[in-house]
Parts: sequence; C-alpha cells; structure tokens
Amino acid sequence: MSTTILCQSKACPNGNPPSKLECPTCSKLGIRGSFFCGQECFKAQWKTHKIIHEIAQKPSSTINVGGKDSYNPFPNYEFTGSIRPMYPLSAKRRIPDHIPRPDYAADGKPMSEVRAAGQAPRILTKEEQDKMRTACRLTREVLDIAASHVRPGITTDELDEIVHNATIERNAYPSPLNYRNFPKSVCTSVNEVICHGIPDQRKLQEGDIVNIDVSLYYDGFHGDVNATYPVGQIDEESQKLIRTTRECLDEAIKLCKPGALFRDLGKTIEPIARANGCSTVRTYTGHGIHELFHCAPNVPHYAKNKAVGTMKPGMIFTIEPMINLGSNWGEVHWPDNWTATTVDGKRSAQFEETLLITESGVEILTAGKS
Ligand SMILES: [Zn+2]
Ligand SMILES: [Zn+2]
Repeated sequence: MSTTILCQSKACPNGNPPSKLECPTCSKLGIRGSFFCGQECFKAQWKTHKIIHEIAQKPSSTINVGGKDSYNPFPNYEFTGSIRPMYPLSAKRRIPDHIPRPDYAADGKPMSEVRAAGQAPRILTKEEQDKMRTACRLTREVLDIAASHVRPGITTDELDEIVHNATIERNAYPSPLNYRNFPKSVCTSVNEVICHGIPDQRKLQEGDIVNIDVSLYYDGFHGDVNATYPVGQIDEESQKLIRTTRECLDEAIKLCKPGALFRDLGKTIEPIARANGCSTVRTYTGHGIHELFHCAPNVPHYAKNKAVGTMKPGMIFTIEPMINLGSNWGEVHWPDNWTATTVDGKRSAQFEETLLITESGVEILTAGKS
C-alpha cells in the first residue's frame, strides 16, 4: 500500500503533490511532514505555518515528538487535536509457530464471528468459564506489565513490543494482531484518541494520558481489558476525566447480576459522565467474548439505548465506557481507518473489564490484584 502526500497548503491552486520542498525551519526542528508544492504556496501559508515552529520549541510540545526519520503519513488530513501519527510503523511482529491462533490471524477475516452474527449470547459451561478465567488473568498480567513501562519518552510502538513479547511468553496470541487487518498487537490511544489507536513512533509526553487495551487468545478463549494511565504529571481536568471514567465502569459493574437488563447499564454510566462535565461515546460498545473476540450481547454505555437481553449466569461480556471531556460524544476517524478521535480535540478516557455473570452476581475476570 502507498500513500500520496499532497501539498499541505490550502492555498495550493493545483492540489499538487509536493515537490520535495520542505520548510527549512521545520527540518532544523525535526518536524516531519511539512511539505509544500512550491514557493508560492509556502509564502501564502507562512503566517499560519510559522506557529508550528513556536509550538515545537515549547518544552511540552506534542508536535516534534517522533524520531529523526518519522513522518506524518496524512499531512492533508485536518486533525482535531494535537496528536499526529508518527510513521513508519515497525515491521509486523512474529508469532512462534507453536502458539494457536484465532481464525483471522492469517487473512484478517474473523469468519466464525461473522457466522455467529445475530445469535443470542452463549451460556458458558463450568469448564469454559475456567478457561476464560485463565485467559483473562493472563490478559491482566500483560496489561500490568505494559502499564509499568508508561513514562515520558517511551514510544507507543515500544509498548506494543512489550505487550507482544509478554503475550507470546505466555503462549498466547495477541488478539488485535491482524483482527480485521489491525496491524499491531495492542491498541494505544493517547489524549484525544478515543480508541483503536495504532502504536507508532510517537513518544509519550509528560502530561499525556494513554489508554492501553490488551486482549489475548489462550487455549481457545479471548480475554479483554483496558485502562487509561497518566504520563508523568497530568493536569487537573485529565485527572478528573480518568477518575470519572473509572467510576462509570465500577458503578455499571455493580448492576450486573442474573436478571439485570443490558440496556440499563447506560442509565447509570451517562449521568455520572454528565455530572462531571463529560459525554459518553455512543458508537463503540462493550461486547460478548469467549471463543469469539466480539459477539453478542451488544453493551452500549449511553442512556436510553435499546440493547436487547437479560443477564444470565454463565454469560461473559465486557463493559468499556469511553468518556470525553465536554459535551461532544461524536468521533471522527483518521485515514488509517482505525484511530477514532474526539470531534473537538478534547481528551477521552476508557476503562474495560471482562465480566462473568454468576448465580449470585458478577465476577470480574480481568480484575487486578488489590
Ligand atoms: Zn479491549
Ligand atoms: Zn473489548
């Protein structure tokens, strides 16, 4: 696959591909991807363009944060916030031959999921529940390992390598790898990225927040867990966002027991978000999970949803609210077709657990040690 980089200047009369002209100040500062097709366009944009230089020279800059040879592959895309993709992506990571894979590992197509579409949530046997316990315990272990490496200066690609290695060391397959052609072994979503961020060469910056979403496939079953972490010192608003999102998940989990309705979870989540000046993402939902990575039930996080179904002992599913600062719950996608960001560039956080409905209540299969 290849990407055509067009002239970044909105004033470009031709919509031209750039002819190698790069801003000399940008080159010196190590900002990649500021290309213009010719001197005329460059002059026309100079006033707005030079702001980039000022931002890049601030110590907390989020622009000049890739390695020397990294670049933004979508220079014409109008990003909603300050995070940019930093390519090239690292080479595809290998899975040792002895590790069993899910059906999509080779061609990206989860055919067993497609076949199961429309089916009711499955009730797992005691043996299957035990296998889910093991898969989910390993998933939590890998998330905790990745989280222990979060610090300013580490790239999300390095976090991907850590997750990948910790997963295959446990004889498990990293579920995101090649799922519907996702290129990496974990999703890393920074600041305004809501979910499905692709690990790349961008270094985490002091003050960022990063969600790490780990899922793995072990002995025929998937586990799925995620959490949002501060990078160094973060501002008050970001702390509140993270606290609020965790509270949304914890309060929703408290409702889970036999007879509870899936549609009622959002009734608890959304008011907590609102009361804290936040909004609830509607496009992405929790999901059933077992031998299939994503299946019934569908678990929306917003109020007044029309989700079908009642919780029954033996059902396993995730709750994973994505909460945005401010009132805009919408999202837009980068041209990579994965990365979902807020519409207004404000930050978003998420927490996820995989849950088993028991005879008397709920068991958090991915729970951390407390
Ligand atoms: Zn997940
Ligand atoms: Zn999930």
